[in-house]
Amino acid sequence: MTTDGPINLHTFGDLQRYGYRLTIHCPTCRDYRDLDLTKIRPDRPHIGARFKCGACGGPGSATLSQISTGNSAHLPALERWRGTGR
Ligand SMILES: [Zn+2]
Repeated sequence: MTTDGPINLHTFGDLQRYGYRLTIHCPTCRDYRDLDLTKIRPDRPHIGARFKCGACGGPGSATLSQISTGNSAHLPALERWRGTGR
């Protein structure tokens, strides 16, 4: 099993594992909200997934970003992320 090489970010589980978050932007509400990755099946691919605004039900666009931890390494930030709730 190889441990180095490119990081694969295919599924919602991968996003969690590598400390990413998805922010959904609704152009109708002009609102941004972070998607709760823990509520999505981790084996579900996020590429090509469609997101709906929780408020108006309209289509939203997703932005992928890495959760800032103050550490430059791509450490698995999930535990810390969950621990703070932010
Ligand atoms: Zn909306």
